[in-house]
Amino acid sequence: MTDRPMGFDTLQIHAGARPDPATGARQTPIYQTTAYVFRDAEHAAALFNLQEVGYIYSRLTNPTVAVLQERIATLEGGVGAVCCSSGHAAQIMALFPLMGPGRNVVVSTRLYGGTVTQFSQTIRRFGWSAKFVDFDDLAAVEAAVDDDTRAIFCESIANPGGYITDLPAIGALAAKVGLPLIVDNTSATPYLCRPIEHGATLVVHSTTKYLTGNGTVTGGCIVDSGKFDWAASGKFPSLSEPEPAYHGLKFAETFGPLAFTFHGIAVGLRDLGMTMNPQAAHYTLMGIETLSLRMERHVQNAMKVAAWLEQDDRIEKVTYAGLPSSPYNHRVASVCPKGAGALFTVALKGGYDACVKLVDSLELFSHVANLGDTRSLIIHSASTTHRQLTPEQQVAAGAAPNVVRLSIGIEDADDIIADLDQALAKAHG
Ligand SMILES: *Cc1c(COP(=O)(O)O)cnc(C)c1O
Repeated sequence: MTDRPMGFDTLQIHAGARPDPATGARQTPIYQTTAYVFRDAEHAAALFNLQEVGYIYSRLTNPTVAVLQERIATLEGGVGAVCCSSGHAAQIMALFPLMGPGRNVVVSTRLYGGTVTQFSQTIRRFGWSAKFVDFDDLAAVEAAVDDDTRAIFCESIANPGGYITDLPAIGALAAKVGLPLIVDNTSATPYLCRPIEHGATLVVHSTTKYLTGNGTVTGGCIVDSGKFDWAASGKFPSLSEPEPAYHGLKFAETFGPLAFTFHGIAVGLRDLGMTMNPQAAHYTLMGIETLSLRMERHVQNAMKVAAWLEQDDRIEKVTYAGLPSSPYNHRVASVCPKGAGALFTVALKGGYDACVKLVDSLELFSHVANLGDTRSLIIHSASTTHRQLTPEQQVAAGAAPNVVRLSIGIEDADDIIADLDQALAKAHG
């Protein structure tokens, strides 16, 4: 083959994989093993010293998981990736080398409910803190950055509100203040949005969602752009200063653009143990093979369903950024040119009670705390995923009491609409 870059549809099937060297198996085998036999004592020592790359123990690396890491890194345009046990694990693993007691991360108010809880409460136990800011107010984001800030964090298409972050502007701001930008690209996937092209240093995913796509396994991933100069910054000693557990090795000096990736495996997975298992990697690899096909249909269906809902009398508001009426519609072309995803919220005129009746009356939709499945899903965020938030946080996150969140699947759009129609009739009956 020539050097011409391959397209997304090709890479989602082939990147990172090759016929199994031992058996010729065409599909990536599930390497269901805990440990790997060393060639001899010298080989073992070299692996433990990070002088040679290879497999030691599946808490750190596993060949099935390694294929998935390379596949996602390639699709995002990164140099490497670390997979872990869930999207929430990926967020902790992304922050772990950057933060320390007393340090903070500047984050968007528009985030997945579980992330708001993780950032506003749980990370405090590590002595870290998060400063929540409206990312449409660039001056406020910049003003929130102080000497202890170590990262900026947002979602590309924010869950659950149909909000699109102005990634080119936030990327430029992160570069200006010299901090890594971490973008959660779960709702968009690399097919719709490529945050690294807008200046993201790290991209995190809940692979549980669209990347796997079939609702079978939880997983997470951190993609490393390889573009941040950790040593020059002076703010990231874990990556630039000698690591005692590896005889004073400096990750930035030894691994260059792959410093974050190697640290994530050799220190993050080694000590935090939030490892993805090879079965989960297998299901996610199966899902990614059809990612572009699914995302195209998700977007087409979401457009049809959102447009139908918007003209219905029983509906107060639809927040799909793909609709011309959305205040974020103008960002689609620059941030997610292939479409605004398939996740949006709907405010019902009947308020909280109508939302609960709607959820209970739907037949094709499943009432679950998940998104990004081939199946259409619904949840009433205020009584479930966003329950732990204050009313102000609920509204800020787009999860007010009269709002339901839809994750539009890849069934026939007409069937999805018919199901909503009959359930809305009952909710307003
Ligand atoms: C689901 C989700 C998470 C958390 O991922 P898990 O795999 O459930 O831990 C984080 N961010 C977003 C945008 C999500 O949708």
